[in-house]
Amino acid sequence: MLELSLEQISMAQVAADKSTALELIANHLVADGLVAPGYLKGLQDREQQGSTFLGQGIAIPHGTPQTRDQVHTTGVRLMQFPDGVDWGDGQIVYLAIGIAAKSDEHLRLLQLLTRALGEDDLGPALRTASTPEDLLKLLQGAPQELALDAQMISLGLSVEDFEELVWRGARLLRKADCVDNGFAAVLQQVEALSLGDGLWWLHSEQTVKRPGLAFVTPDKPLRYLGQPVTGLFCLASLGEAHQALLERLCALLIEGRGQELGQATNSRVVLQALGGEVPAEWPSAQIVLANAHGLHARPAKILAQLAKGFEGEIRVRVLESNDSAVSAKSLSKLLSMGARRGQTLEFVAEPGIAADALPALLAAVQEGLGEEVEPVSAMPAPAPVEAAQATPRAVPAPQAGAVLSAVAASPGIAMGPAHVQLTPVFDYPAQGESPAAERQRLQDALAFVRGEIEQLISRSQAKAIGEIFVTHQEMLDDPELTDDVMRRLDSGVSAASAWNEVIESAALRQEALNDPLLAERAADLRDVGRRVLAHLCGVQQAAEPDQPYVLVMDEVGPSDVARLDPQRVAGILTARGGATAHSAIVARALGITALVGAGEQVLRIASGTPLLLDAQRGRLTVAPDDSTLQRAIAERDARAQRLQAAAAARLEPAVTRDGHRVEVCANIGDSTGTPAAVAQGAEGIGLLRTELLFMAHNQAPDEATQEAEYRRVLDDLQGRPLVVRTLDVGGDKPLPYWPIDKEENPFLGVRGIRLTLQRPEIMEAQLRALLRAAGDRPLRIMFPMVGRVEEWRQARDMVERLRGEIPVSDLQLGIMVEVPSAALLAPVLAQEVDFFSVGTNDLTQYALAIDRGHPTLSAQADGLHPAVLQLIDMTVKAAHAHGKWVGVCGELAADPLAVPVLVGLGVDELSVAARSIPEVKACVRELSQEGARALARDALMAAGAAEVRALVEAR
Ligand code: PEP
Ligand code: MG
Repeated sequence: MLELSLEQISMAQVAADKSTALELIANHLVADGLVAPGYLKGLQDREQQGSTFLGQGIAIPHGTPQTRDQVHTTGVRLMQFPDGVDWGDGQIVYLAIGIAAKSDEHLRLLQLLTRALGEDDLGPALRTASTPEDLLKLLQGAPQELALDAQMISLGLSVEDFEELVWRGARLLRKADCVDNGFAAVLQQVEALSLGDGLWWLHSEQTVKRPGLAFVTPDKPLRYLGQPVTGLFCLASLGEAHQALLERLCALLIEGRGQELGQATNSRVVLQALGGEVPAEWPSAQIVLANAHGLHARPAKILAQLAKGFEGEIRVRVLESNDSAVSAKSLSKLLSMGARRGQTLEFVAEPGIAADALPALLAAVQEGLGEEVEPVSAMPAPAPVEAAQATPRAVPAPQAGAVLSAVAASPGIAMGPAHVQLTPVFDYPAQGESPAAERQRLQDALAFVRGEIEQLISRSQAKAIGEIFVTHQEMLDDPELTDDVMRRLDSGVSAASAWNEVIESAALRQEALNDPLLAERAADLRDVGRRVLAHLCGVQQAAEPDQPYVLVMDEVGPSDVARLDPQRVAGILTARGGATAHSAIVARALGITALVGAGEQVLRIASGTPLLLDAQRGRLTVAPDDSTLQRAIAERDARAQRLQAAAAARLEPAVTRDGHRVEVCANIGDSTGTPAAVAQGAEGIGLLRTELLFMAHNQAPDEATQEAEYRRVLDDLQGRPLVVRTLDVGGDKPLPYWPIDKEENPFLGVRGIRLTLQRPEIMEAQLRALLRAAGDRPLRIMFPMVGRVEEWRQARDMVERLRGEIPVSDLQLGIMVEVPSAALLAPVLAQEVDFFSVGTNDLTQYALAIDRGHPTLSAQADGLHPAVLQLIDMTVKAAHAHGKWVGVCGELAADPLAVPVLVGLGVDELSVAARSIPEVKACVRELSQEGARALARDALMAAGAAEVRALVEAR
């Protein structure tokens, strides 16, 4: 960590020119043991690339990435040159701060210097400073005021222990931008000081950016080191800023008024006692948000537009969260609140506009902000969410012939030369010319990009694409973002630097939401941000190759895709991203084959390298040899023909060449989907995902509504069997109107059967509706996420009890095998269940410990991994030993390479998306049961999924 201290300062140095000064600095850094002599070259090269002059008589010479290996230890050396050194272009340096750093730690130094750089006439003062102490004072700038306002106080927090309270205090400081992320960990190491009356005090200077004080109290009595805890002060200490507060607090404690703080229920009381900034009394109004999917992009946009119509400040916050209020005029800030249905929005407005603005906003929210809404019944709100961030790492380029896995985001087989568009490295000065000039630059760039986006909107044929760009435009016009940038320009930074910082921090806030859809809007923000930055930095887009190509990017923005001409772009390949990103939606809308999340290595591929994208198997081949390419072309054509033939035979049963029949059914989520599935050849419904029925309603559908939905499916099946899964929410599938407490690992938390057993009234209503709808038709009910025998028994007993009331004649009860423990216990469970249905999507994620939605790892979560196959094998053997049947209803069942293995393992039924039924049936017909069994035996002994796939292909 770079910090400034007296020992690092060398006063009154002399250098005739810049290169002598650099040598002097390098010698000192070497003498201090920070770098090897070779670092001088780095200092020189860096100056060649661009001057390190910061302004105000300061330069910060540092090395290049190539000379990082010359750095032994991170550190700095400050050298005062009272006679000045010409740093080029007539810029005179009086203080050079030589940096030895292995990474971009000079940014931290810039942060430390920001205040000093904002002051006038620093250069002359640095020149005449006569002691290291004076110099350091000048660099640290005017003392900052202690941040202490309503946002820094959180009372009655639901915390388990003292550590959690400390963490919450540190979090307030982080949100106020007083400290870096590591501050919570720093505080946990510091010894807490008891102030009496249950009040405690913690402070540290480490990672502090500006001084601030947070005060937090627990909602229930806590004890720490044997003493009560009623409140905790967390101080981010910098200089003397907290002195006055400390004196006031001491006086308060001596007067015996400490309890007032610990018992306060209102931050105003605390602020008045401590002398903090007491908020102005602005009128406020509250309303419960009723939109089924919360305040997502469209309603938020309408809200922001409405708020912008009032001349004055309007802020809004989610009452149930600890987050501070944001501007209601800012789309990005509104989205970053992550407001969900059932939560209360609290608006406050400037007194001058409140009488008009608040009723108008409330009415708009009540009317649904452009969406149909159903009122919300009272319910508890979900807990707040914490931030997460990923750090990229450098990796080598894949070699010719390499085959990589990726997430298939848009189907097809595509080939063409790579056209690699790396996220451009925008080179811009940290300091601007002048605030006025930078403001103008920014405005020009915004106007230019606005025009570009308008063109994209008018060119967009698909409605979904056009809507995305309207949102982009809204982001561009977001006053919260632009005001923030403009404010930063006043401190002398360049427009590019200010814009980049503001966009990046807004995107990070967005990513921190635990709602994948909202978090993906970070990509949209960065997309808009890049466009503006490119214009500010004069970066031109690289010209497209003439022949159809494969576009390779880090994370493709929706506008990148929509700009593409599907005639010229054969496919898209990205290093990061998931299948639900806007860009994937755009790619599917345009019919461009896309693989996403292939890892950073694809960015190292040289433009022009031939690529083969197989979005059927989620596989990329780099520089495929001629025969691979020919095979792919042949496969693409053969597949088209096969699909045609399969479609013609879709209504025939799936029987292997040696007469073994495999039932092929459909997975549906929508009760209206049955006729289409039957028309595709479904022999039944193998998985009705009932949570989708629940999600389609704004409130849990009552028994009669559900009964009608299930009845419709059974009617449409005309005697074919229906396998229904009871409500499976939690994990990555939240129900907007059924908030679940925040969990560190929702996939390992309360989901599936665990959740419904906690809400038996919901489960019972569903079971009753199913039994009533069935009558004498074949109904199979299965329970999701069963991991313990007790869960199964509890669920079964509930059905058996209801069955006494509502008789049905053809009912089977089973479980989904999605948790490895269920497969391992299959010999026990098989004695009691009527059937198993293997949910390979979850079974794979739990067996391989890979989050199924992980942006970079999910491609490795391949259900053909032998470990997963072993679990399926155990399940089938146990079931057959007791005369029970086994289906597979995860995505694996539709994979043409998996069908032979699953049939070989003895799986009796495959349940797949309706459009895959003809192909799956055709695959079965190509097999012999004996051959499939031998293949499965080999697959079970393979070392990995890739080997299994190779085995199947080599058949
Ligand atoms: C599965 O996990 O394989 C499955 C079918 O369930 P879902 O994908 O709905 O979690
Ligand atoms: Mg599942």
